[in-house]
Amino acid sequence: MKKILLIVVSIALMIGAAVYILFVLESNGVVSIGDALSRAFKVKYPLSFYMGENGTADKLEGKTVCVSLFVDLENNKWHDEDTDSEKIENCYDNLRMATYWLTDQVAEYSKSAEFIYDWKKYPELYHEVEPVGKYYVYQLRENDGYNLLWDYVNNNVNSAELLERFDADNIIYVTYFDVNKGSRTDACAKDCYFDPQYSYEMIYIPQGYNGFEITATAIAHEILHVFGAPDWFQGGSDPLFFGVGDKCINYMFENYPNDIMVRTFDRERNKPFYGEVNGEISEMTAYYVGLIDEAPSAVFDFNLDLSQHDPNRPRFVPDEE
Ligand SMILES: [Zn+2]
Repeated sequence: MKKILLIVVSIALMIGAAVYILFVLESNGVVSIGDALSRAFKVKYPLSFYMGENGTADKLEGKTVCVSLFVDLENNKWHDEDTDSEKIENCYDNLRMATYWLTDQVAEYSKSAEFIYDWKKYPELYHEVEPVGKYYVYQLRENDGYNLLWDYVNNNVNSAELLERFDADNIIYVTYFDVNKGSRTDACAKDCYFDPQYSYEMIYIPQGYNGFEITATAIAHEILHVFGAPDWFQGGSDPLFFGVGDKCINYMFENYPNDIMVRTFDRERNKPFYGEVNGEISEMTAYYVGLIDEAPSAVFDFNLDLSQHDPNRPRFVPDEE
């Protein structure tokens, strides 16, 4: 009898400890029980707009509409501090510098790219979005149905009309989060190579990360992701990584140390590149964003997945329901 009582008490203590740990993690923003619950009961928002398996950002050349979304979080809003308007102006400058740099880089490959980003000239490219969660966390980019940003775009951005009006080839969605420099979640992008049914190609820009302010260099890097560029500094088993592994990473560091997909941070000075974008688009990145057709030999040497623009890449076949 004593033994049973001991077991019951131990189990109760373990449950209590687990609940306490979850509570601490939740209050520190490490996990969100709300997010986990909404994922468990996910609703898949149907797309109101679909451009095909390469998503809304196909090749980097041509005209691209950039829709800016200033997304509130329950704990960090865009209009609750005196400095917020200055920060929004900063986002404008960074986006301008990032897109100008992209235009110049594309010209190096004898192609042209134009970005319609100017929300002062076209106010319909500026949106303020109600809170989509408590914190800026990676779950925001997951296409698991609770993605309220996707639903926001469905209902509030007339993507087809914007493409037609500007006679554009691509449309991307740039989301900004007013988090402080202490935020531990980096900028990121959600491209359709990660999930071919994810059509809205969106980048996630926190105002700060790891003690530093966001830069135009980081924004240009994230924009390249949605056109199909891999990171050259990290690998993994997920399709997101294109089969990039340590050997390929070393090769890129040695041969293309200034490629913007190799680094966005000035390692020598141990700080970000503030001001103008710092970096270049090497032929490896150029192939993945559709600026050159032929795959560089390193793609085969390192057994990488082919570019989403390569006609030899296996096509996506949706699951039969
Ligand atoms: Zn990246």
